[in-house]
Amino acid sequence: MARIVQKFGGTSVADLDRIRNVAERVKREVDAGNQVATVVSAMAGTTNQLAAWCQEIGPLVDAREQDAVVASGEQITAGLLAMMLQTMGVNARSWLGWQIPLRTDGTHSKARIETIETDDMIAHLGKGQVAIVAGFQGIGPNGRITTLGRGGSDTSAVALAAALDADRCDIYTDVEGVYTTDPRIVSGATKIDRITYEEMLEMASQGAKVLQTRSVAMAMQHHVRLQVLSSFVDQPGTLVVDEDEIVEQKIVSGIAYSPDEAKITLLGVPDRPGVAASIFGPLADAAVNVDMIVQNISHEDQSTDMTFTVGKADLDRAMSVLDGLKDELGHDGVQAETNVTKVSVVGVGMRSQPGVAKTMFETLADKGINIEVISTSEIKVSVLIGGDYTELAVRALHTAYGLDAEPSD
Ligand code: ADP
Ligand code: ASP
Ligand code: MG
Repeated sequence: MARIVQKFGGTSVADLDRIRNVAERVKREVDAGNQVATVVSAMAGTTNQLAAWCQEIGPLVDAREQDAVVASGEQITAGLLAMMLQTMGVNARSWLGWQIPLRTDGTHSKARIETIETDDMIAHLGKGQVAIVAGFQGIGPNGRITTLGRGGSDTSAVALAAALDADRCDIYTDVEGVYTTDPRIVSGATKIDRITYEEMLEMASQGAKVLQTRSVAMAMQHHVRLQVLSSFVDQPGTLVVDEDEIVEQKIVSGIAYSPDEAKITLLGVPDRPGVAASIFGPLADAAVNVDMIVQNISHEDQSTDMTFTVGKADLDRAMSVLDGLKDELGHDGVQAETNVTKVSVVGVGMRSQPGVAKTMFETLADKGINIEVISTSEIKVSVLIGGDYTELAVRALHTAYGLDAEPSD
């Protein structure tokens, strides 16, 4: 007998037929004698709709109330799945975040999980009852409902798997696993059988939304055995594993892209010691996450242009911080550009193999794509390019690194 945590995403619970399909999968695990906790997302599109209603009321609505609204989608699917299982003769009940309780900090809309009390749930699992858990939600320090950021049900599942000391955490979604790149934009993308935690973390944080970044970090930290697989076909998915569990390592494992970036250029910044600190300090204080940074060479008048990227969602906040720095910094002006995409190639093999960046730059040059900013880490190279070139760049890089699937005949 194993203890299993499963998670089903929005497309997998999009209507009652699909919820029935999910219930059949849950029942299969129960019939095999396993203890099962199943985390569910809201029906596809529901969270977007709920968030849009909140935004329609105003851009600065009470974040606590907004969380109360957007968390409700998962309450619906948890109840529906529990009822569906009951009609199949399976003992099941729903658990909302506060009922577990799954406690978070008070950062509404992107709360972090602090503790999960599992005694009660373990007692129910021990009596053969399936726990259907509403993903994405928790309870904050003041007893208010919190949510974990978009895609947060993945993190609910991994955190629950760690807390329950589960044998497996299976993330069921609408593709058959983690692919070399988003299979929705590159038809030749191939499914990866095994990917390291580290690579998955980079892929997710660079835009591959198949897993929420935080869920991967948590799985890595707590050694959760994580699998991504399809809720529609019975095929093995992708296992996220330690590096020593991979026999043959490719140099580049995957390509991710993120259109959620914005580029800011500060023009005519005085070129003197301390200037970077006086720009990025206040941005950090305003909780603006700065990603790529490039400082141009000095002009003759001892001034320089500074270009960096922030998340699109943080752009307005960043611009108002920079506005407030105008007198102190004495720069000539600020430009913002939102039609940009960050494209990243990821692979642990890069550590020992030079030339990955060269291939990337040459491939993009061949396609006439201009690189605006570059950043690298040990296992990743990222470039910022014009948003209109996203698909062209991802496809060309996918081919250049030999990741295209063999054509089937
Ligand atoms: P769910 O609702 O099940 O959580 P998501 O929409 O959040 O599903 O994530 C699955 C989607 O992630 C896929 O439909 C796919 O378009 C996208 N995706 C992006 N990059 C990748 C990748 N490298 N491998 C697989 N899917 C990816
Ligand atoms: N329903 C939430 C969202 O759409 C959480 C999730 O699906 O993981 O972001
Ligand atoms: Mg998701």
